[in-house]
Amino acid sequence: MNVHASLAAAALILASITACSPEANKTVEPASAPATAPSPDFHAFRIGTLEATALRDGMIALPNAADESPWADTAAARTVLTAAGQPADVIHLSVQPLLVRDGGRVVLIDTGAGGRMGTQNRLVGSLRAAGVDPTLVTDILISHAHGDHVGGLVGADGSLTFPNAVVRISEPEWEYMKAGAARAGEVALLAAVTPKVQPFAPGAQVTPSIKAVPLAGHTPGHSGYEIVSGTGRLLYIGDAMHSSVISVQRPEWINGWDTDSAAGVATRQGLLERGTADSLRIYGVHFPFPGLGRFERRDDGFVWAPER
Ligand SMILES: [Zn+2]
Repeated sequence: MNVHASLAAAALILASITACSPEANKTVEPASAPATAPSPDFHAFRIGTLEATALRDGMIALPNAADESPWADTAAARTVLTAAGQPADVIHLSVQPLLVRDGGRVVLIDTGAGGRMGTQNRLVGSLRAAGVDPTLVTDILISHAHGDHVGGLVGADGSLTFPNAVVRISEPEWEYMKAGAARAGEVALLAAVTPKVQPFAPGAQVTPSIKAVPLAGHTPGHSGYEIVSGTGRLLYIGDAMHSSVISVQRPEWINGWDTDSAAGVATRQGLLERGTADSLRIYGVHFPFPGLGRFERRDDGFVWAPER
């Protein structure tokens, strides 16, 4: 958390994505057109028959510097980023919680940073742009207790952003969150959310279509979520990986933000092996928006193949 907290001073970088400008004469919409207009703030897609939406919260601009980056060898990171065609001085980590409609439930996986870490606090606006009022969210699934995942649970006035939602978090992560709230400066957030929290056992089925998947290493109860509908399947990987370049191409590098470094390495390697073996569709909450894609083998390692 201290490292994450240090990001608060990081430069604010907005993704300069502009909406498409359709030609004036092409006004015929297909019968299945979504009710809402295209927006740079959300991306609607399907998982089997389930409706899902990537919701832009903001962007963390992480300097590739020894006291800022979780990857200690900044020169090696520079080499990997440059080879991937990415800027080498700053590592961009997008933040995009995931909305899933599961039967009558409106499920939000993670809540963004609430403006922490230099981010833009766009989640609620993105949610509304997608046609969902925050009061309609019924279930919030938390991957882990870091500020860029729980920060959006409350607004600037300290009140609950999603007042009608239960908050689901793994039992060990809830204990970790309570124990670390004072150190993280999140006592008020903890007090506000506590009446809503329903912890679950690691690996539990948390909604009819969503199962928690323990992904060890980042925090004591860190949890991914696997969403299944028919033959559709998506794995939300939380912070098992942060960078779509470094975490995927160099999974063996120690991540200084992991509480258990060795477990973090093993989790990344396991995700890459399973992901490629099963051609598993992946959702990276910190990967470039909208975070959808698959891992692919290349040479002796792996690369991220975004869905669009
Ligand atoms: Zn994170």
